[in-house]
Amino acid sequence: MGVPLPPAPPPSSASKAMRSNRSADTKPELALRRQLFRRGLRYRVGYRISLPQRVVRPDIVFTRRKLAVFVDGCFWHGCALHCRMPSDPSGYWHQKIGRNKARDMAVNEALGAAGWTVVRVWEHESAELSAEAIAVAVRQRTNG
Ligand SMILES: [Zn+2]
Repeated sequence: MGVPLPPAPPPSSASKAMRSNRSADTKPELALRRQLFRRGLRYRVGYRISLPQRVVRPDIVFTRRKLAVFVDGCFWHGCALHCRMPSDPSGYWHQKIGRNKARDMAVNEALGAAGWTVVRVWEHESAELSAEAIAVAVRQRTNG
């Protein structure tokens, strides 16, 4: 699966798309959804989970299993393999990615505290393998 190049540092007029952390329906996400569907798994997209501390919107949700899946972009979520910071004298991107990672952890904790299982996959991971891991997690939630 191809990994997109990191965006250029924001000009003073950074576009809305650049500022948003999560673009809906990315290619890796669609590929993963296809693989899940093929395995007979049925899920919700765009489902909002209201927690005491916050509202979260995972990329894929198995509502009855209380299983939330996030497909994390390598750049935005600071993948150790692919997150190459653009030249960054202002520190803008380091701070931004750092905040994103901190938020990811807070979201994981909040979901866990509310009885949800969280599965995070990187966009660079194979959709087949990610789908298999998710299928296993769904089965565990079914049996356990
Ligand atoms: Zn990556």
